[in-house]
Amino acid sequence: MALLDPPTRTRDRIGLDGEGSLQVALDPNDRIGTAKVFAVYGKGGIGKSTTSSNLSAAFSLLGKRVLQIGCDPKHDSTFTLTKKLMPTVIDVLETVEFHAEELRPEDYMFEGYNGVMCVEAGGPPAGTGCGGYVVGQTVKLLKQHHLLEETDVVLFDVLGDVVCGGFAAPLQHAERAVVVASNDFDSIFAMNRIVAAIKAKAKNYDVRMAGVIANRSAATDEIDRFNAATGLKTLAHFPDLDAIRRSRLKKCTLFEMEQTPEVAAACDEYKRLAALMWAGCDALDAEPMKDRDIFEFLGFE
Ligand code: SF4
Repeated sequence: MALLDPPTRTRDRIGLDGEGSLQVALDPNDRIGTAKVFAVYGKGGIGKSTTSSNLSAAFSLLGKRVLQIGCDPKHDSTFTLTKKLMPTVIDVLETVEFHAEELRPEDYMFEGYNGVMCVEAGGPPAGTGCGGYVVGQTVKLLKQHHLLEETDVVLFDVLGDVVCGGFAAPLQHAERAVVVASNDFDSIFAMNRIVAAIKAKAKNYDVRMAGVIANRSAATDEIDRFNAATGLKTLAHFPDLDAIRRSRLKKCTLFEMEQTPEVAAACDEYKRLAALMWAGCDALDAEPMKDRDIFEFLGFE
């Protein structure tokens, strides 16, 4: 029985992922087929998983076949879609001692709201392993089980606090990346790092920046200033709605909440964003700031 392949290191492909990179490189055989692939990044706690799940729901309501892949060790990306905390790919691989051929799709992929298919990649064992390896093995498993062939949209939901080579792995698969950010220093600082990661990846992969999803903010003036300075643009704006917070507590998407005027407006915004992304977002040639310059730019010096 064959074990899953060990991670492919860039030792023999120096330069593929950028100067000094030792990260896991994409095996060309593991390219996702014809689906449109998006990576949703953002600082931890910014509402990225809630945004991703509502966006997946919106794609499905537009008639698209959607697969959401959570790439956060917390593995609650798809919680509001499936109404439960699912086992991760790494969890189930461990149960069969990493003999992937013993797994069935239903062991790690679950159907959620309106047919959205949900997978939680999980994280590497704490203190060892690499998040990029986990993402790579998840995609490999999905391909082995032919689960990407009948999919229109693949959405990776990725932790954006540390945009190391491992957590940047979904950028090797995505054609467009979006960043969820609120109008504050921490999320804009993380966004800048994500812009830098995408710029680095774009040298060797197809991924390009699509823009910003402004979240949990009435005002967007700081995001607007950052966009103007770096060449980003805002694709959608979601205010700090209590109904969005409550939807998470009720284990449901925003589309399943009582459709008050403000909830209906936010649902319409998700559907507008999904339609925009499906039609094809412009590739932005954004230029990140130096880490130090962000402090001055946002008035912290
Ligand atoms: S820090 Fe990033 S690149 Fe390094 S092992 Fe962890 S996930 Fe992988």
